[in-house]
Amino acid sequence: MKVAVFSTKAYDRQFLEAANSPKQHDLVFFEPRLNQDTAILAAGFPAVCVFVHDQVDAPTLEMLASRGTRLIVLRCAGFNNVDLNTASKLGITVVRVPAYSPYGVAEHAVGLILSLNRKIHRAYNRVREGNFALDGLLGFNLNGRTVGIIGTGKIGLILGQIMKGFGCHLLAYDVYHNPEMEALGGKYVELPELFANSDIISLHCPLTPETHHLINAEAIEQMKPRMMLINTSRGALINTQDVIEGLKTGRVGSLGVDVYEQESELFFEDLSGEIIQDDVFQRLTTFPNVLITGHQAFFTEDALRNIAETTLNNISDIEQGRSCPNEIRPQPEVEPKILVK
Ligand code: NAD
Repeated sequence: MKVAVFSTKAYDRQFLEAANSPKQHDLVFFEPRLNQDTAILAAGFPAVCVFVHDQVDAPTLEMLASRGTRLIVLRCAGFNNVDLNTASKLGITVVRVPAYSPYGVAEHAVGLILSLNRKIHRAYNRVREGNFALDGLLGFNLNGRTVGIIGTGKIGLILGQIMKGFGCHLLAYDVYHNPEMEALGGKYVELPELFANSDIISLHCPLTPETHHLINAEAIEQMKPRMMLINTSRGALINTQDVIEGLKTGRVGSLGVDVYEQESELFFEDLSGEIIQDDVFQRLTTFPNVLITGHQAFFTEDALRNIAETTLNNISDIEQGRSCPNEIRPQPEVEPKILVK
């Protein structure tokens, strides 16, 4: 199938071309992000391949549909950037890569936890400047501490397994109860109990209208003083301004994020020679107890290989009229908590 690949970076091309050998599909790579203005590039392409910052909204989908596109191929797990209802109405199929690097993302979350706790990001700079003082680098033992995991699907479960290995207690919150999390000793509680009792809270639920700004001033007010907050899921799960206030009062003791609500203006680009205009982001970077990475949690060789292979298999399934296990349709309302996956 002829596929227009948007938001192409060198590594996307490298892994997609390797997975496409021998050639199954006709891949044409475009550097720009997909939006209303660039959708014209996909004229005549039955399939369009996109990533997390491509805007697959109603106007873009209408433009694509009117020029022959029938398939949107997400090379990522999250699909909050796609208007699924409009796609469905226009007869456009949407497929994704649901699980390309659950270990990579969970391990990155652990990396943020360890770095923030033991101040490794600060120690690295100090030692390079010949400063071997320990003041300000005091951490705590993870053993015996409580980790609250919000969203206990693939990534949340793996984080639970790793933190269990450190000797942590696990609290969990999800609209479903995952039996594997319970078997691990994870205790499902309501959010107020999780907020009140967790030393570390890590977010692993998708961004939906229900989870938008899940972490806001009201939530932070219920948390333990000096708790650690980790977000490797989607930026808008957090009200960043409220978290900044929490950092200023000390209620939030440290913050590790791989995602940021306005990240589409910043991440994946080299802006080192430019003046960053986002004052909220710039304020975040001034805190010594904040560690930000630019949406790299997924970025492992294993993940890029999986993404490329699954993406091409998804296209083949649709092209050959097979049912594709990775097709996504408009979501029903959130289901009751008593359901078990
Ligand atoms: P998953 O679908 O396996 O798990 C998500 C879990 O969240 C499910 O158990 C679901 O029931 C739960 N959930 C849904 N709505 C909820 C709500 N309102 N409250 C609490 N829980 C809710 O997904 P996953 O593979 O574990 O990925 C989790 C998220 O991680 C994705 O949605 C994506 O946004 C993010 N992600 C980030 C990166 C990165 O590089 N930073 C990479 C991959 C995925």
